[in-house]
Amino acid sequence: MKDMNDIHGNLIGGAWLPGDDCRPNVNPSDTRDIVGHYAWAGGAAVDQAVDAARAAFPAWSAAGPQVRHDLLDAVGTELLARKDEIGRLLAREEGKTLPEAVGETARAGQIFRFFAGEALRLSGDAQQSVRPGIEVCVTREPVGVVALITPWNFPVAIPAWKTAPALACGNCVVLKPAELTPGCAHVIAQLLHKHGCPPGVFNLVMGSGAAAGEALVSHPGIDAVSFTGSAATGARIAAACGTLRRKVQLEMGGKNPMVVLDDADLDTAVQACLNGAFFSTGQRCTASSRLIVQKGIHDAFVESLCRGMRALRVGDALDAASQIGPVVDQRQLDSNLSYVDLARTEAAEVVGGERLDPGKPGFYQAPALFLGAANKARTSREEIFGPCASVIRVEDFDEALATANDTEFGLSAGICTGSLKHASEFRRRAEAGMVMVNLPTAGVDYHVPFGGRKASSLGPREQGRYAAEFYTAVKTAYSQA
Ligand code: NAD
Repeated sequence: MKDMNDIHGNLIGGAWLPGDDCRPNVNPSDTRDIVGHYAWAGGAAVDQAVDAARAAFPAWSAAGPQVRHDLLDAVGTELLARKDEIGRLLAREEGKTLPEAVGETARAGQIFRFFAGEALRLSGDAQQSVRPGIEVCVTREPVGVVALITPWNFPVAIPAWKTAPALACGNCVVLKPAELTPGCAHVIAQLLHKHGCPPGVFNLVMGSGAAAGEALVSHPGIDAVSFTGSAATGARIAAACGTLRRKVQLEMGGKNPMVVLDDADLDTAVQACLNGAFFSTGQRCTASSRLIVQKGIHDAFVESLCRGMRALRVGDALDAASQIGPVVDQRQLDSNLSYVDLARTEAAEVVGGERLDPGKPGFYQAPALFLGAANKARTSREEIFGPCASVIRVEDFDEALATANDTEFGLSAGICTGSLKHASEFRRRAEAGMVMVNLPTAGVDYHVPFGGRKASSLGPREQGRYAAEFYTAVKTAYSQA
C-alpha cells in the first residue's frame, strides 16, 4: 500500500480524501514511468460527493455571476500560464505528443475563460403575452447537481468543456474522469480548489466506470448527466437516465468520412487526411477513418498518402521528434491490431499497421491504411479508435456523398474540393454535426457548438453559447400587475 501522502486524493466537499484504494497511472510511451498514484473510489465516495454537492447548491446557485466569472477566469488564466507543465503531464499520462498536449491544455484554459464571460452573459427573454396586461419573462435557472463522466482521449479539454459551463450556469458538479487519465482532471480540481471554489461546488471522484460511474449515474441526488465516451457506455447511461427521467447529454463515437474529389488540391487533401486520420494516434472521436476518394485522383492520392504516412515518426510522446505518440494502453493496441488482421481479409491491401518496437515498454503501432476497402466492411463501419483508415474508391460526387452518409454515426464530415458548388452541397447534405471543407475532420474551435447526429450524440450541443441549453432549465413566468 502506498504512503497516504503520495496519493492524489478525491476532492469531496472541499477536502482531499484518499479513498479506500489507489491505482498507479502509467505512461503509455514507457510503462516503467509511473505518473502518479490516484485514489480509486467506489459507491461510498460517490454518495459523499453527491451529498456535498447538494449541500453546496443553494448558495452556489444564488452566488451570482461575478463570483462564478472570477473563479473560472482564474482557473483558465492559470491553465494557460502553466500549459507547458500541465501539457507534459497530459503527454505522460495519455501519450499525446507534447505540442498536441500543450495545445489541448491551452484550449482548456481558453474554455474556462470563455465560460467566465458566459457566466456574465447568461440571460433570459422578456416576451409579449397574447393576453393584454400580462408580462411574460423567460429565465434560465441551474439544473442542480450534474454528473460529468469523461473519456481518456482529451483528458483536460473534455473535463474543462463540461465543468466550466456547468459552474458558469450555477450548477454543482461531481466529475468522474476516465480510469486511464485521472491526472489532468486532478489538476482542474486543484486549480478550482486553489482559486476559492466553495466546498462541495466541484467534486472529483476517481474510479472505475462499473463502480463509481454507475453509482453516480443512478444516484438519486443527481439531476443531469453529461457523458462523453463510447457508444456502448452511452447506450447504458441513456437507458438508466431514461428510467430515472434524468436530463442526459451524450457525446459518443464517430466513423468520420473525408471525401476527396478529383478537383481537390492534392497536397491539401493528403495533409488533411494525414492529420485527420493519424494525429493523436487516431484516438479522436472526430478522426477521419473513412477516406472516400473519387476515381480520377485516387491513384495519385493513395501514392502520396502512403508516402506521407510512412514518413510519420512514431515514438515517445515526450520526444520532440515524434509526430505520433503511442496507443493509450495494451487493450486498445490489441484491439487495433485485431482490426488490422480483419482488414487483411476485407480490404484489397493493408499498408502499415504493424506493432512497432515490441521489445520496448510502450504501446507503439505504425499507422495503417486499408486500401480498396468497401464501405459495408466491418473495418469501415466500426469505430477502431486507433491510427487506421479505410480508403474507399467512388465514381463521382453523388456516390461520395451517399457513402459518406452511409454510417450509423454523424459527428464530423469533411470534403476536399476546388468546387464551390460541391462544397456547398456537401455542407448542406452531409448528415453530421460538423462539416469541414478543405480541412481535417478533427480540429475544432473552443467557442462554437460541438456535437453530432445519429449514434454520435444525444441531447443539446456542448461548447459555446449552446452549452447553456443543457446546463440550465428554462422557466416561463407570467405576471399581471
Ligand atoms: P468509455 O465509454 O469506455 O468510458 C468513458 C467514461 O465512462 C469513463 O470515465 C468510464 O469510466 C465511464 N464509464 C464506463 N462504463 C460506465 C458505466 N456503466 N456507467 C457510467 N460510467 C461508465 O470510453 P473511452 O474508451 O474512455 O473513450 C473513447 C470513446 O470516447 C470513443 O468511442 C470516442 O469516440 C469517444 N469520444 C467521443 C467524443 C465526442 O465528443 N463525441 C470525444 C472524445 C471521445
